[in-house]
Amino acid sequence: MIDAEKTNMSNMFTSIKLIMGDQLNLDHPWFENVDEQVLFVMMEVRSETDYVKHHIQKVVAIFDAMRNFAKDLKSKGHSVYFISINDSDNKPTITENLKWICSKFTAKELHYQLPDEYRVDQELQILENNLGIPVYTSDTNHFLTTREEFGVFFKGKKTFLMENFYRYMRVKHQILLDSSDKPVGGKWNFDQDNRKKVPKNHQILTTQLKVKDCSEVYEDILKAEIKTIGTINPSQFHWTTTRAEAFELLEEFVEKALPLFGTLQDAMTENHWYLYHSRLSFAMNVKLISPLEVIRRVEKAYYEEPERYELNQIEGFIRQILGWREYMRGIYWAKMPEYATLNFFNHERKLPTWFWTGETKMNCLKHAIDQSLDQAYAHHIQRLMITGNFALLAGIHPDEVDRWYLGIYIDAFEWVEITNTRGMSQFADGGIVGSKPYVSSASYIDKMSDYCQNCHYKKDLKIGEGACPYNSLYWNFYDVHQEKLKSNPRIGMMLNVWKKMDPNQKSEILQQAAYYLDKIETL
Ligand SMILES: Cc1cc2nc3c(=O)[nH]c(=O)nc-3n(C[C@H](O)[C@H](O)[C@H](O)COP(=O)(O)OP(=O)(O)OC[C@H]3O[C@@H](n4cnc5c(N)ncnc54)[C@H](O)[C@@H]3O)c2cc1C
Ligand code: SF4
Repeated sequence: MIDAEKTNMSNMFTSIKLIMGDQLNLDHPWFENVDEQVLFVMMEVRSETDYVKHHIQKVVAIFDAMRNFAKDLKSKGHSVYFISINDSDNKPTITENLKWICSKFTAKELHYQLPDEYRVDQELQILENNLGIPVYTSDTNHFLTTREEFGVFFKGKKTFLMENFYRYMRVKHQILLDSSDKPVGGKWNFDQDNRKKVPKNHQILTTQLKVKDCSEVYEDILKAEIKTIGTINPSQFHWTTTRAEAFELLEEFVEKALPLFGTLQDAMTENHWYLYHSRLSFAMNVKLISPLEVIRRVEKAYYEEPERYELNQIEGFIRQILGWREYMRGIYWAKMPEYATLNFFNHERKLPTWFWTGETKMNCLKHAIDQSLDQAYAHHIQRLMITGNFALLAGIHPDEVDRWYLGIYIDAFEWVEITNTRGMSQFADGGIVGSKPYVSSASYIDKMSDYCQNCHYKKDLKIGEGACPYNSLYWNFYDVHQEKLKSNPRIGMMLNVWKKMDPNQKSEILQQAAYYLDKIETL
């Protein structure tokens, strides 16, 4: 909002409603009718830009989406007070900004939607004391579960099996079910069809990047001297920052990428950075589009053209959103704040500096890190089996790993970042999210990608000159953590292989791993 508009605002608003930068849900009941006594407040605030060093594209995307949202609200007749990052009256925290706004408009009450981040939740919970007026909360109406539902579902259970939760969600929301609540196609899960590499000579025909100019937002961020990571071409910005753009991307995804989504969802290639993935996570996480809107559209594609959309593509995609996304949020609210301190393996090492530059000779890591710095994006298997796998094998402290993931990705918000990173990827929760640590040697990476063929290291060597670091670090991991892993039924087989290996070979592998860990900065 331009300053003249702000100064002309009357003081007759009795109610202030706070909209956070990741609460851009135009369909929320708050916006159904125009109420002249309500003032919506949005702010680009330092406490949110600075709690971690974010990727520049992430900050631009959030600010641009917020500014677009404010415009949309105003065009519908709502009153919006938008505090831009360089406004002279902008204060460093949400609470400080709300204090002066409430007093300026002599507001009688404040409303906010439940935030998704524990950090923000803590701050907002004490607003009533800080502001001295009644404070009311509403749901965001975005998720398919309430914050508490996960805890109720798993009450009294020792393990939190995602598959059980996912089936419950399929039935609860009647998704891909027949008339007797049985899964369409006779199976709940088609994962075994979804582990293919990109075939040789395959022509990748997927969604296009639609670009727009975000230079103005970018300049504002530079002027505010916000410290960021990564690169950007602000005049060719491709992340979706309006609801209309999110729907456009969804339609294009369904048309071009969904037919191969499941089959190639675990594949990695040097030739394309998002393959058949949807790139919808940012739009969903800031609530431009709802998970149910995405799921229903994909389900409809299957019912309309079952011969074109095989069930493994459809079910594989829906499971990510209906299952994993809601499940991660459930774990977050059931286990925070302790979750952020868990370090099951007591890992202590620092993240190598090349995680911030991409300057490593390991081609898989170079590719995944360069891409993350350039695009603020890596797909799931790059995050899990390239960067995450290496960090776990190298014994990096989960705080270091979390800080990297929380900063670098366009879609990184703590509720979904920490559960994926500390939980699924680093097993720092000791098995709350995953039933075993996701670790692999070069053989898995080679099976699922074309990275190894252009690598300085040799994928087939465990020891000696040029041996791939993943190989010795993989066995070293089992050796170091055998006490903690021996009772895990999903790990037993590999531990036995290690135990039965020739003692001389074991010793050489451990020496190689120690050498690499010592030289980690130069790998
Ligand atoms: C170490 C690690 C860190 C991650 N950090 C984040 C994060 O900060 N924010 C985030 O949104 N996702 C995170 N993920 C999950 C997943 O990698 C991303 O959601 C996905 O890559 C986003 O790209 P996409 O929209 O193209 O996804 P697609 O492959 O097209 O999948 C569709 C949607 O499914 C959902 N989804 C898929 N996998 C997961 C998952 N494991 N957990 C939750 N939702 C999932 C996302 O909303 C995604 O948009 C992380 C995964 C790992 C292994
Ligand atoms: S050889 Fe090893 S380091 Fe190189 S790309 Fe393959 S797995 Fe990565």
